[in-house]
Amino acid sequence: MFACAFVTACGGSSRSAGPPIGVTVGGHGAKPDDAPHATTKGVPPGETAGARAERLHRQAIIVDGHNDIPTIMFGSNVDLKTPETRTHTDLARMKAGGITGEFFSIYVEGDLADKPTVTGGGSLRRAIDLVDVTYRQVEQNPSELLLATTAADIRRAKKEGKIAVLMGIEGGHAIENSLYALRSLYRLGCRYMTLTHTNTNEWADSAGFSGPTPTRHHGLTPFGEEVVAEMQRIGMLVDVSHIADDTFWAVMKSAKAPVIASHSSARAVAEHRRNLNDDMLRALAKNGGVVMVNFWSTFISVDYQNAARAWYDKNGKAFAEIRTKYKDDPLGFIEARAKLRAETEPLPKVPLSVLIDHIEHIVQVAGIDHVGLGSDFDGVDALPDGLDGIDSLPKITLALVERGYKDDEILKILGGNFLRVFEQAEAYAKSTGTTLSGNGSTRRIDSKR
Ligand SMILES: [Zn+2]
Repeated sequence: MFACAFVTACGGSSRSAGPPIGVTVGGHGAKPDDAPHATTKGVPPGETAGARAERLHRQAIIVDGHNDIPTIMFGSNVDLKTPETRTHTDLARMKAGGITGEFFSIYVEGDLADKPTVTGGGSLRRAIDLVDVTYRQVEQNPSELLLATTAADIRRAKKEGKIAVLMGIEGGHAIENSLYALRSLYRLGCRYMTLTHTNTNEWADSAGFSGPTPTRHHGLTPFGEEVVAEMQRIGMLVDVSHIADDTFWAVMKSAKAPVIASHSSARAVAEHRRNLNDDMLRALAKNGGVVMVNFWSTFISVDYQNAARAWYDKNGKAFAEIRTKYKDDPLGFIEARAKLRAETEPLPKVPLSVLIDHIEHIVQVAGIDHVGLGSDFDGVDALPDGLDGIDSLPKITLALVERGYKDDEILKILGGNFLRVFEQAEAYAKSTGTTLSGNGSTRRIDSKR
């Protein structure tokens, strides 16, 4: 049902401890008191931190790598135009947050990989259902939204004062082992694909979430390598979020264009297998890619992970009951979960500074050109303190200002880096001089089931 909140139910998370949370990892640039902006070129003298953040936020092309609202729109018939406090996303809040480009996640839950398409509503069917539900919102709100499939579309949205809606597939099993299906999803507008979700598929190993790692191929199979090559040939971004470490390194070996991690944080700041370690961050920088930091409290704070695990140990049965009861109604599930949380011991709020620590760590290890934002809004059940949804994005810009980042650095983090990567992936696809389907591989794996 939910990309990430749902798997929380599957038994908490990693038990290993990370460095203390809430401690700034190193220091970037000057501290706020040093007022570096007072001397930054083009910055009005005497501009306050708040005014500067506001100016930058307005000026920036802001891209968020991952939002699971399509699953809720589809499952609970949610319309973006209707103000909705139970979700992290609606149209008014998207506008208030100043977002330029939002990746709507075409999320295909892992257990659909086991269902026959005709009778069960299989993986590809779920993907195209979510594509249509996304188009529906764009078509119903033409003066606010535009469907974007290129970096130029995102720039155009900014110029026209609209929000670019992009689509990224979550879970490589969505293509049902067929490169024909991969290209068809590209034609429908999908511009990235996480090679796995928490399930290992028939050609790539997943990191899983908790419990034993679902190792099967020790990375990518030859078909998996072909999926990566085909994605890059046609200009679909390869997304390394959710894949196993071995799969990550297999991607790095064969990648010919920059890749993204659409919603992953830094493992050195918060130990979790879904986050990237420092070697991975350096490799991704060498590849020219971008890590878009996940906001989920579980991925950014080990303290939160521990508290959540204790909560699930106590309340797992009640949680499983509501999960079953509302399995086809994501919004009903969110409401029931909030009620259960209100009746049980509260989980700690992770300070916003911890999220900024992840950004800062990636800047230090990979460089300022390789970090972005990948909220995971509406796929997760807990966000940092003060970040209640997509309308809270300006608080991140202010926090970056207060950490002493320069104007151009903040613009890169907010979306500039993603745009560069997207443009490079587009340029690589163009350089192959091939056509989308005519020159495409005819490989597929026929189901063993
Ligand atoms: Zn995810």
